[in-house]
Amino acid sequence: MKEQKKIKTDVLVCGGGCAGIAAAIAASRNNARTLLVERAPFSGGIITTVGLPFFDGISDKKTGRVVVRGIPFEMLMKMGRVKPGATVIKPHNPTLRSTEEFKVLADRMLTAHGESIRVLYNSSACDVRREGDRISAVMIANKDGLVEINASQVIDCTGDGDIAHWAEVPVEKTMPLMPMTLHFRVGNVKPNPELRAQARESLKRASEAGKLPMFYGPGLIYAFAKDEIYVHAVRVPGDASDAEDLSRAEIQGRSDAWTMFEAWKKEVPGFEDSYFVSSGPYIGIRETRRLVGQHVLSAKDIKLGRRFDDAVATGCWYMDRHPNHTTIGSANDGGGGYQPDPYDIPYRALVAKKVDNLLVAGRCHSASAEAASSTRVTVTAMAMGQAAGTAAAMAIKEKKGVVMLDGVKVREELTRQGAGPLTDG
Ligand SMILES: Cc1cc2nc3c(=O)[nH]c(=O)nc-3n(C[C@H](O)[C@H](O)[C@H](O)COP(=O)(O)OP(=O)(O)OC[C@H]3O[C@@H](n4cnc5c(N)ncnc54)[C@H](O)[C@@H]3O)c2cc1C
Repeated sequence: MKEQKKIKTDVLVCGGGCAGIAAAIAASRNNARTLLVERAPFSGGIITTVGLPFFDGISDKKTGRVVVRGIPFEMLMKMGRVKPGATVIKPHNPTLRSTEEFKVLADRMLTAHGESIRVLYNSSACDVRREGDRISAVMIANKDGLVEINASQVIDCTGDGDIAHWAEVPVEKTMPLMPMTLHFRVGNVKPNPELRAQARESLKRASEAGKLPMFYGPGLIYAFAKDEIYVHAVRVPGDASDAEDLSRAEIQGRSDAWTMFEAWKKEVPGFEDSYFVSSGPYIGIRETRRLVGQHVLSAKDIKLGRRFDDAVATGCWYMDRHPNHTTIGSANDGGGGYQPDPYDIPYRALVAKKVDNLLVAGRCHSASAEAASSTRVTVTAMAMGQAAGTAAAMAIKEKKGVVMLDGVKVREELTRQGAGPLTDG
């Protein structure tokens, strides 16, 4: 029988999306031996696996004041989207020129720390071994077969709270879950001032004819080129933490995207010579499991602007919940949800209960469904990831589990490194 491969590391980051990239970079910059495991052949999460180019959560909608610095700000700077030292970013949701550029930048930043970081792409975390109050091993599956990872500290950035779930720490799913969306791009679309209105009518007809079970918008965005639209319109209800349901959703999403493209090509002037550039490659997952951690960030915390001594990140996006039915002309019924002022996310909202060595960052951190509909955006997820990576490295230095760390000290360390929460000073 083949001997199973084993890898030892200080910090294991599972999932190399928005939160995971920042967590891995932060842990390795803070001198922890770090391993990043990502199921796709590249990192970037929603930005590269789904194709979404928005850096939401970087600045306050009302004032444009920068609320998140650190790694996401550095990435924007490296892509030439913001000037060093900028204190205001307008519009508040900068668009990346290319998701491929982001993919390469993430590779370069992840591998810039040589010896202290290893990256395993095409590798899925698939199980956890728990001994008492510690995660003693995480199993991953890749071309080497099943590999056992022994890490002192584990950071779950899978978006779905996979590690937390398998470690049997408290997690929750709020039903009905928000729907999934496959994004796609259509090229060689000729200018037509009525394009959006006509595309909307065309989807209404497809829906009435029984060809399209559900859609929203449609949002047609000239994000990457003057003649190419990037489409937000597919809406598929389901539970992406269930393997079979996720496959069903991928199939439905692809079918719906193609139905939309065919309807527009046939009916909407401007689409005659268009072509389907690409979709996904993964369907976008808005919501599945969330950690029920040491503090569950609530909508009340956000709306009242509650201050936490152990704040490690700042959120500022509106509460954006998508319903499981067609909404014509917008993503939500009646437009956007509550727009908060910048608010604190405490360290304890990243710390699991019942195990000593698990942090959870990104959209599966500890928050109510309503609160998470604001904290889930790209830059806020990265800010939580940076906090988790920094904390995990501090725990290694202090030879204790992340649960025993003083969140106030994590905040101070982040601030010292030019990251962490917005301060009013
Ligand atoms: C359709 C859609 C539209 C959105 N629109 C916007 C928007 O306009 N602006 C905005 O800012 N935010 C938007 N969001 C929300 C936001 O982008 C995500 O919530 C954000 O990506 C959260 O970051 P994350 O790191 O938690 O998750 P992700 O970025 O999804 O990263 C999770 C990573 O973990 C990997 N992974 C998962 N399971 C495993 C495993 N078992 N083993 C190894 N790797 C694993 C995945 O491949 C992925 O790379 C949208 C989300 C969706 C789904």
